[in-house]
Amino acid sequence: MQKIKMPVPLVEMDGDEMTRIIWDMIKQDLILPYIDLNTEYYDLGLKYRDETNDQVTYDAANAIKKYGVGVKCATITPNAQRVEEYGLKEMYKSPNGTIRAILDGTVFRAPIVVDGISPSVKTWKKPITIARHAYGDVYRNTEYRVPANTKFEMIFTTDGKETRLPVFEYEGGGVAQGMYNTDKSISSFARSCFNYAIDTRQDLWFATKDTISKIYDHTFKDIFQEIFDEEYKEKFDELGIEYFYTLIDDAVARVIRSEGGYIWACKNYDGDVMSDMVATAFGSLAMMTSVLVSPDGNYEYEAAHGTVTRHYYKHLDGEETSTNSMATIFAWSGALRKRGEMDQNDALVKFADALDKASIRTIEEGVMTKDLALLWEKGNKKVVNTHGFIKEVATRLDQELKEIM
Ligand code: NAP
Ligand code: MG
Repeated sequence: MQKIKMPVPLVEMDGDEMTRIIWDMIKQDLILPYIDLNTEYYDLGLKYRDETNDQVTYDAANAIKKYGVGVKCATITPNAQRVEEYGLKEMYKSPNGTIRAILDGTVFRAPIVVDGISPSVKTWKKPITIARHAYGDVYRNTEYRVPANTKFEMIFTTDGKETRLPVFEYEGGGVAQGMYNTDKSISSFARSCFNYAIDTRQDLWFATKDTISKIYDHTFKDIFQEIFDEEYKEKFDELGIEYFYTLIDDAVARVIRSEGGYIWACKNYDGDVMSDMVATAFGSLAMMTSVLVSPDGNYEYEAAHGTVTRHYYKHLDGEETSTNSMATIFAWSGALRKRGEMDQNDALVKFADALDKASIRTIEEGVMTKDLALLWEKGNKKVVNTHGFIKEVATRLDQELKEIM
């Protein structure tokens, strides 16, 4: 087979620890033999982030804006212990946070569903993708432990003119908090969700508590509806997909009864809580993919899990590891597919589909890493090590590609 050409580069962001090792294995065994890989490489490994005072993270994010597609390896978000371990100049911010802020994007998390590992919720047949609005609300609040005999008012100053709203009069002590969001951020969130629904041809659900929060939550509902009607309704009708709004408690009940196969857009707090529930119910964090979508159509693909530090230390001690590379493989296939779609590079799209298929087939044929072995429900299984799994995928990828190329 002739290697597939890539005229436009992909932004490649290398990372840390066990996932950095997996990253290289995937490239060597699953990508380079088939593709004339064209990437603009950024090393987001902690050591190089420190050497560049984190400039490399900013450069990578700007490169995604330039080229439209990136793929990122998991990276360490340093804490005090990491500052010491790596002798860092400072405690850098989370690279994901930095990239998200520059792209103004929304993160979509979706499970990889395989036959033989069933979700805890028995009606779920297809993946449920969660989109979390990662801006504002309680995550940027101002809180106060209120003493007794206190009057709580909100004051807004607009062009020097004050608006004062009474909130509560405390006799005994209590608590209070102020929080905010912006039309701009809510609109970006809405557009990212509608775009991603069109991209993946799935229905979009959105829910708030607008009956109780008649201004705050209702504004989310209104902005979504306005943008949908004005910019997306026609396209949704054309594709036969639906935008569905309901109250958050009703949404939760419907999600549990549903068979999946849609995107669930959540306000910040709802998304924090629900994404962990949905991920756990689908089985394993190692089978969860993640894509950051900006409102103007830039995409960054990654695994939802971290750098798997515990396995990395075992690896450094010369012990065998059995780390699941599925989510990182899917990050690569997602990015290659998107690159292919943007450039009308059909061969690249087909390759990405074949890579997904080969990976899923590997598990469905009973070959898996340790984390999945406990969840496996279909009898015979072969538990392999980290590299063993990738080699098993490579064998099947060869077969898939022979059939289609
Ligand atoms: P983690 O790397 O996701 O790993 C937590 C545990 O989950 C592992 O010890 C392992 O359990 C299991 N696990 C996760 N991914 C797995 C995989 N692919 N295959 C098999 N098992 C897997 O989370 P963490 O240990 O809390 O964080 C480690 C580092 O990652 C931290 O420095 C954090 O800052 C960073 N992080 C980065 C990202 C990102 O870049 N997107 C996200 C989260 C965390 P067992 O040990 O029981 O096998
Ligand atoms: Mg959480």
